[in-house]
Amino acid sequence: MLTSTKELLETAQKHSYAIGAFNLYNLEGVKAVVNAAEAENSPAIIQILPDVLNYGGSSLIALFLEAANSAKVPMSVHLDHCGDRTIIETALEAGVTSVLADGSMLPFEENLAFTTEMTVLAHESGSTVEAEVGRISGTEDGMTVAEKEAKMTDPYQAKQFVAESGVDFLAVTIGNVHGQYYREPQLDFQRLSKIRQQLEIPLVLHGASGLPARMIQQSIELGVCKFNVNTEVRQKYLQFWREFGRTESQSDLLDCQKAATEAMQEVIAEKMRLFGSGGKA
Ligand SMILES: [Zn+2]
Repeated sequence: MLTSTKELLETAQKHSYAIGAFNLYNLEGVKAVVNAAEAENSPAIIQILPDVLNYGGSSLIALFLEAANSAKVPMSVHLDHCGDRTIIETALEAGVTSVLADGSMLPFEENLAFTTEMTVLAHESGSTVEAEVGRISGTEDGMTVAEKEAKMTDPYQAKQFVAESGVDFLAVTIGNVHGQYYREPQLDFQRLSKIRQQLEIPLVLHGASGLPARMIQQSIELGVCKFNVNTEVRQKYLQFWREFGRTESQSDLLDCQKAATEAMQEVIAEKMRLFGSGGKA
């Protein structure tokens, strides 16, 4: 059933587990998440990126919402990384249960102004808001230690930001990156612990693809209750079609779609077990 993202996260935080938020693009992705969530008896979050929303339009967002609503487990639908007011309005009108009002590319004061405005809008529609303080990078390469540090979430700035904007949950930057980790991930847990001391709201960690189990566990203990997952599921899907292209033994497209769904479902179910959300629906 379609459930408030805030409610899902607060329950997870209270019981020390986290919920996977999976970036989806099409029906196969949706079925993979719903099937995995129902099989694991786990809550889940469906995420849509602005570019995907622009591409799929109202029919794709309707598909995501209806899939969440008809699932046997609690699910929410979240607009990921959006710095565009018009797209946020469109998503809120469609009925998404939360948005990431992403002003992290702006200077602190402008990020605060944008996020505050989007939070008022979202709350008026009964939706909730994730914000980002600090800036999550696409890759670690080519950055000096000082540059990396400068992009990380400052605990005291985060406290001020949350108090003034009224956001419901916060994405932190503690060394996590989008996409692939090319070497052992280095997360600053001391920083996360300081952020936790300043904030009671649910914390979010982006770039969970490739994080080892012990880092996931430590993050959960320090208040992270939403992990964003995109790369690993997407890669599995692409790998399926690449292999299919080489063999072409199967000519029934529907059978291929089902097999692609199953491939993604396996990765998603594994994440749910890793995050501790299995059996928590
Ligand atoms: Zn992200």
